[in-house]
Amino acid sequence: MDLSAIVSEIAEAMQSETDRGAVATYIPELGAVDPDQFGLAIWQPDGEVFAAGDADTPFSIQSISKVFTLTLAMREMGESLWHRVGIEPSGNPFNSIVQLEAEHGKPRNPLINAGAIIVADCLAAGRSAGEAQAAVTGFVQRAAGDASIAINPAVARSELLTGQRNRALAHFMSAEGNLRNPVEKVLEIYFAQCALSLTCRQLALAGRYLAMEGQVNDDVLTPPHRVRQILALMLTCGHYDGSGAFAYRVGIPGKSGVGGGILAIVPGRASIAVWSPGLGPNGNSLLGTRAMELLAARTGWSVFAP
Ligand code: GLN
Repeated sequence: MDLSAIVSEIAEAMQSETDRGAVATYIPELGAVDPDQFGLAIWQPDGEVFAAGDADTPFSIQSISKVFTLTLAMREMGESLWHRVGIEPSGNPFNSIVQLEAEHGKPRNPLINAGAIIVADCLAAGRSAGEAQAAVTGFVQRAAGDASIAINPAVARSELLTGQRNRALAHFMSAEGNLRNPVEKVLEIYFAQCALSLTCRQLALAGRYLAMEGQVNDDVLTPPHRVRQILALMLTCGHYDGSGAFAYRVGIPGKSGVGGGILAIVPGRASIAVWSPGLGPNGNSLLGTRAMELLAARTGWSVFAP
């Protein structure tokens, strides 16, 4: 299989797509991103990276960060994390509030906003907001083997000033007793993790541990059984109310973000990062999803393949 040719072909095919979706404007800084961009990077266990298009342009990883904070929280809390947040797909938009009331402030899963805010609250225990941000950034740097990875402060500030919907989710969970730290402290951590800025190449490297049972070279980031649990959640919940369609069309666990990125993991075979800022109706990258479909078809990669 000539992965280098496949990657270039996909990037080229995406260039001629006219329907590129719409950039997220509810976070003003993201609304200013040029929608005419597309990047793809694939890391393979032999260390080789195949990249095409704007694979070296940094973008806001947004909800993809939820995978990294989940890894950290599971490491610190183990199964007790599931007293605070569920493991079921929501079938609702990423920022939905409706299920929270019926379920007494316990979010359906850690990959929707409400669930990731609970995860941020867990990471806030015994840490200042700055320490929690440093723990998350440090984890992503370590996973990617790249100490230059950082939070984009303008994006974090942009969401801190406008993120009233996340504020509503946090206050509701606080009223129900599920959020233990002050709302503004938790949101500061959550908005900062969403504002981590990575290129496709850096993101594919950051996902290596998920493709390699938790280990990168000799560094154990998390045990193998945890990786399997995280990948299961990515497959069932990683694309919100578009998770079923992504599993059906692509067949690979993935996590999207409203910055237009997707991290997708083929266990033992590849860590894939794709990015195009325009989003489809469920808030997932339109061209990113299309590219993943093409890639899965061309490579035969699927977690359901023998
Ligand atoms: N920071 C974004 C928000 O909370 C993340 C959402 C996303 O990427 N889907 O709205």
